[in-house]
Amino acid sequence: MSRSASPIVRPVSEDEGYNWMHRAFLQSFQTHSVLTTDEMKPILASIMSAHTDRAWSAADITQPHLSNTIQTINTKIESYDYEIRSTKDQHTKESVWALVNNASDALTQFATTFSAGELGFVRRVLDYMFDTNNTANRQVMAIKHTDASNLARGPRRGGRQSQINGTADEDSQAAAVADLGISISEADTVLDSLVSAAFFQKSKHGYFSLAPRALMELRSYLKETYNEPASAGDDGDEEIIRIRDCYGCQAIVTYGIRCNNRECGVRWHDHCATIFYKDRRRREDKKCPSCGTECEGNVYVGERVETRAGRGSTGSGGGGGGGRRRMGQEEVEEEEEDAEEDEDE
Ligand SMILES: [Zn+2]
Ligand SMILES: [Zn+2]
Repeated sequence: MSRSASPIVRPVSEDEGYNWMHRAFLQSFQTHSVLTTDEMKPILASIMSAHTDRAWSAADITQPHLSNTIQTINTKIESYDYEIRSTKDQHTKESVWALVNNASDALTQFATTFSAGELGFVRRVLDYMFDTNNTANRQVMAIKHTDASNLARGPRRGGRQSQINGTADEDSQAAAVADLGISISEADTVLDSLVSAAFFQKSKHGYFSLAPRALMELRSYLKETYNEPASAGDDGDEEIIRIRDCYGCQAIVTYGIRCNNRECGVRWHDHCATIFYKDRRRREDKKCPSCGTECEGNVYVGERVETRAGRGSTGSGGGGGGGRRRMGQEEVEEEEEDAEEDEDE
């Protein structure tokens, strides 16, 4: 698989820039919502084989070949505000690529796919993931299927507030008229279509969370919607940051670990912490690079807050009671979805 073993064959009739090969490759991103590097190679190979005299195998496609192809496509589609971008899957560490619209967030684009009622449901699901189920002490950032089903109906209609007060205020009545919600089976259809579009993913514990593609497409939307800057008013409300980036890779963390000091904003993807704490000195004192707190790697972000409850991931004590994990050691590396059947401590 050396570079020289894979001559880049250009058809004589085409210019050096964007050509049939790029066009065909771009189309593959419209049929597959996301592609990993290993998935892209055979696709590009079959495109090359169809259009040149020789048979290409996935092994003939080198990393530079792939990068050059994507770069040429990106130069071409930039003026349409599209870009092929990649991020790492938080669970598998694998790079995934998607065609992303830089001009409008995915929710705006959904307006063409979903009805107003369905879109309202999607927004309620996101609010649940990133507000309701994402408090300072419990950053689950995911939603169970049953909780999602409960959000099918429109806001407040028969909701807690009107049950408590007996009446709903005018605003909420108006909101209920505007958004009557959808049925539970319609909500299931929306969830299924979001999963098949690689926008949501569903874990084996039954939690829906944002898939890598959504994290790329909704990065700005999530921060603008759920992070609140400190208010300048008399009350001087402190800023609330619900969406945080990984200390290692700067991508949003919705599944990972956090500093044992609850006041500290340091978040990690599992594999990013593993890389950081591989350094022997760092591993030995296990200090958070920001606040210096000794960290055990046992305070989670994501569904493990709930699925590993009792291991120092719940409550507000900080300091991590119960957990035995050490950041930077192999145990952290094994914290993949598959290794998640808990042997409870
Ligand atoms: Zn990271
Ligand atoms: Zn810290």
